Amino acid sequence: NSLFESVELAPRDPILGLNEQFNADTRAGKVNLGVGVYYDDEGRIPLLKAVHKAEVARVEAAAPRGYLPIEGISAYNKGAQRLLLGAGNPLLESGRVLTAQSLGGTGALKIGADFLKWLKPDANVVISNPSWENHRALFERAGFTVETYPYYDAATHGLDFNGMTAALNALPEGTIVILHACCHNPTGVDPTFDQWKEIARIIKQRDLVPFLDIAYQGFGEGIEEDAAVVRYFADQDITMLVSSSFSKSFSLYGERVGALTLICSSSEEGERVLSQLKRVIRTNYSNPPTHGGTIVSMVLNTPELYDLWATELAGMRERIRSMRQQLVEKLKAEGVNKDFSFVLEQRGMFSYSGLTKEQVDRLREEHGVYAVSSGRICVAALNSRNIDYVAKAIASVLA
Ligand code: PLP
Repeated sequence: NSLFESVELAPRDPILGLNEQFNADTRAGKVNLGVGVYYDDEGRIPLLKAVHKAEVARVEAAAPRGYLPIEGISAYNKGAQRLLLGAGNPLLESGRVLTAQSLGGTGALKIGADFLKWLKPDANVVISNPSWENHRALFERAGFTVETYPYYDAATHGLDFNGMTAALNALPEGTIVILHACCHNPTGVDPTFDQWKEIARIIKQRDLVPFLDIAYQGFGEGIEEDAAVVRYFADQDITMLVSSSFSKSFSLYGERVGALTLICSSSEEGERVLSQLKRVIRTNYSNPPTHGGTIVSMVLNTPELYDLWATELAGMRERIRSMRQQLVEKLKAEGVNKDFSFVLEQRGMFSYSGLTKEQVDRLREEHGVYAVSSGRICVAALNSRNIDYVAKAIASVLA
């Protein structure tokens, strides 16, 4: 009798399943727009120059690799705080902000979720409808009941702001609200700054618990601009959690670089909170890995490397913008009647294209163009060699 006899096969991750299908496809012109990764114009995952320089220096230093502190590299955590709050922000010196290096954005969400389950065992969690699919799974795994608030309005290809605020206004006090700080995954639709202000007002008034997820800082309007909501919430003295991912912004997916930041109401409170967060980390994985964190820390703390990184990140952001522009123009040139200009309003790597599941199936079957069944496409996987083909393919399934 096997111990594992009763174990059932878990459902396949839909996006990873799509990748497997893509890899098995033998057509030469196939294009994978189902991914959540930034590719350069050559269709490759870039190794940023700033990252490479830091890595060369790191190897030359021939440094030992002892255990890191439970909360990770101090200079890394300070760098992550500066990215979130802005270099001159007095909060940085207040002792109210504490950060733990984490295993990617996912790791930050996970230790944040475990910490919240300990702090607020009876609270529920709400996520946007739709959201990054791991949000629900992750908070359910941590023991929470997860519900959704309205977010995307398919009719306008924009934000259902009235639906969202009405739902937030009706939540019980203490509900944990997961918000995408910028470049919403999967829709590409973000609230305006004025809308964020209203969301902050409701959160404060109703005593909700905001958990901001920022996985694409620098891919929207700019490094500083994309953190506007975090800075505004902090200015409003809202206590909160923030998960940062550097996977995309440093193109370091496999290094698992991220951070969990908590903004407390006093330094004395911060000290207590950090001591409990460290217990959560200790019982999960003890302490984070050295390599990726060291590299990111070097880039964030060396002005020359920081500037190079910021320039490279701007290049990625602008390339995505240009692909959005070209896609809209090329669809028009292919005779598509439907107005796709909403694609230009969306931010970050993704676009909810408005394509139906049937159209997505036809794209894949007839043209070898892979997208998520929701119609989400990764604009960062378009390039000057595949965009004409993709525009033609989309035009053909819309005809
Ligand atoms: N949060 C959102 C909204 C994401 O889209 C992603 C990655 O796709 C993550 C978090 C996780 O990032 P990481 O790969 O750093 O764990």
